[in-house]
Amino acid sequence: MNAPTEVVAAWHTPPEAKDDLRMLGPVHECACGSNLFHTLVSFDQGEPSLWVLEGQCASCGTIVRLPCPIDLGI
Ligand SMILES: [Zn+2]
Repeated sequence: MNAPTEVVAAWHTPPEAKDDLRMLGPVHECACGSNLFHTLVSFDQGEPSLWVLEGQCASCGTIVRLPCPIDLGI
């Protein structure tokens, strides 16, 4: 999902979660192929500074664990 129209279409309350893939660890993409997730984010000077590591796929509602810099060794 990269086109702006897809982003607008995904901006809604996520579907009811039917799957929980948190046991797979941090993911950049849901099993359905979507890379947009609902989560809580805090910003500091225009940059995301804090986000909840549990997310929900904007397309199918699957619960996933979201990545953070420590997952990349940063
Ligand atoms: Zn999904």
